[in-house]
Amino acid sequence: MIKPIIQLQNVSFQYDETQALNNISFHVQEGDFLALLGPNGSGKSTLLKLILGLLKPTSGEIKLFGEPIQAFKQREWIGYVSQKSNSFNSGFPATVEEVVRSGLTKKIGLFKRYPQNVKQLVGEALQAVGMENFATRNIGQLSGGQQQRVFIARALIAEPKLLILDEPTVGIDHENVQSFYDMLVKLNEERQITMILVTHDVDIVSEHISHVACLNKTIHFHGYKNDFDHISQQKLDAWYGHKVRKIH
Ligand code: ADP
Ligand code: MG
Repeated sequence: MIKPIIQLQNVSFQYDETQALNNISFHVQEGDFLALLGPNGSGKSTLLKLILGLLKPTSGEIKLFGEPIQAFKQREWIGYVSQKSNSFNSGFPATVEEVVRSGLTKKIGLFKRYPQNVKQLVGEALQAVGMENFATRNIGQLSGGQQQRVFIARALIAEPKLLILDEPTVGIDHENVQSFYDMLVKLNEERQITMILVTHDVDIVSEHISHVACLNKTIHFHGYKNDFDHISQQKLDAWYGHKVRKIH
């Protein structure tokens, strides 16, 4: 049976001055790999923050794993890598190992001890993102792309069922973007982790994603990636004002 992971029903959100989201309804199911597209300011990050419970909708309803978000307690099921995760400077005083280990606090509670096999868990999480040789390095001395992988490992160590990534490849060299996405695809396929990815790189990731949502305050399209491929360029231009390039 396919399980709903996220359900939004008529969700709107208003900042003081700005209506960021207007009457959004859509759902994500277990195992989906959803690419969330939209120009800057279209509400992508706001939508993710609503799903993460960091913001509360002005109106409408959100369910996580079938439960109203107000009643949902299993925060550790949801991993989040924010837009700014990869901006530690070279002086930041933490090793890769420490950063990844800190991903367990959500799971075990802030002041409880780490499990005895924590080193092994850290090693496995780093291996999943191809960073097992960097455990003792200082996080600030890694490239943006390497830091981003470490933050994904930090999310993975809590064994999330859903991973939410907000523009994770911003600042990653072009030649490393493809292998970064290959890693995400592997996590989705091998661990059945449901993925929500905010990205502008649909052309690179498109072979492996299952669904696309186009956002610009409202949802203009949400459906299978194959159906997205049949949307005309004119329609996309009308939604986005020539900002999204169609990909083949
Ligand atoms: P995106 O991630 O797609 O670039 P955001 O969700 O960050 O878009 O922003 C959507 C709209 O809400 C924009 O007009 C933005 O200026 C506004 N906005 C975002 N965050 C805040 C905030 N903390 N306070 C007020 N307005 C905000
Ligand atoms: Mg954003």
